[in-house]
Amino acid sequence: MSPTKRALRGGIDLGGTKIQAVVVDSEWNVVGQSRRPTPTKGGPEDVARQMSEALQEAAKEAGTDSDELRAVGVGSPGDVNTAAGTVSQARNLPGWDGTFELGPWLSDALGTPVAVGNDVGVATEAEAKLGAGKPYDSLIGVFWGTGVGGGIVLNGEPWHGRGAAGEIGHMVIKKDGAQCTCGRHGCMEAYAGRAAMEIKARKEHEDGTKTDLFKIMEKHGRDRLTSGIWGRALKAKDPLATHLIDRAVEALGAGIASAVNLLDVEAVIIGGGLGVRFGDPYVQRIAEAMKPHLFTDDNPPAMHVAALGDFGGAIGAALLSESHKVGSAKKGR
Ligand SMILES: [Zn+2]
Repeated sequence: MSPTKRALRGGIDLGGTKIQAVVVDSEWNVVGQSRRPTPTKGGPEDVARQMSEALQEAAKEAGTDSDELRAVGVGSPGDVNTAAGTVSQARNLPGWDGTFELGPWLSDALGTPVAVGNDVGVATEAEAKLGAGKPYDSLIGVFWGTGVGGGIVLNGEPWHGRGAAGEIGHMVIKKDGAQCTCGRHGCMEAYAGRAAMEIKARKEHEDGTKTDLFKIMEKHGRDRLTSGIWGRALKAKDPLATHLIDRAVEALGAGIASAVNLLDVEAVIIGGGLGVRFGDPYVQRIAEAMKPHLFTDDNPPAMHVAALGDFGGAIGAALLSESHKVGSAKKGR
């Protein structure tokens, strides 16, 4: 093996709608990338196989093979045990109600050590170290996508609480409100998460509300309302899509402002599939929607779109492969 190749690392971001893989050099520049849809059927092994193939494709683009990489990091939804590399209860993924040894499985498939961390946690750390959060010591990352994930950095250090901190999507913004995909009621994610919005849109559509959302979905050969489908429907001024996204923005404003009231962080970084796609105009709208709920409304936090963009989660995952001693007995959740 050549020493230059050994300096390369891999990162895989496992999202609810897509799997993204990158290979980065020692300066964290992306030298290979690949993406594919997250399987909607099957089980954890089918998902893991797609992850492995995506990473191998990214490695090929970087002129190397996966077993030549120094290490690979994975950002995964669900309950992640970093020590064992296992992922449990990733409910937005097919057949993933139990526990799967994702790290060991991928390590076998890729021929290199694999570290697994929480997807939102790694994306927040990436933004704090390399992206829009660089100028700040304390920030929260809000990842507006299939769900609404959150990550917290306080005084330059990630805050994990007892292991489950940052679940900003489950801030209750309306007591006894809409049912959330977590089974509880009134969570911010029940109004703003892509999965929850899709459930609501399908129900409204079945009840006779006129919308082109599903026509656009079929036209683009999709079987779910991806961020791109929402974007197209908004552009076409579809009334239901507009209404549901307006409702999501209001929910994000209330939930994020509440988190800021508690932590008084310097900045809020908005990422995720919807956050990155809608970009700055929507970050400004969310900032407006926060105002009525902010205690220090004369001193709001800085608001930014995630600077590492769509591949930020995968770059963060690659960062994880450095900060975590891969395969060590470090205590995780
Ligand atoms: Zn919830």
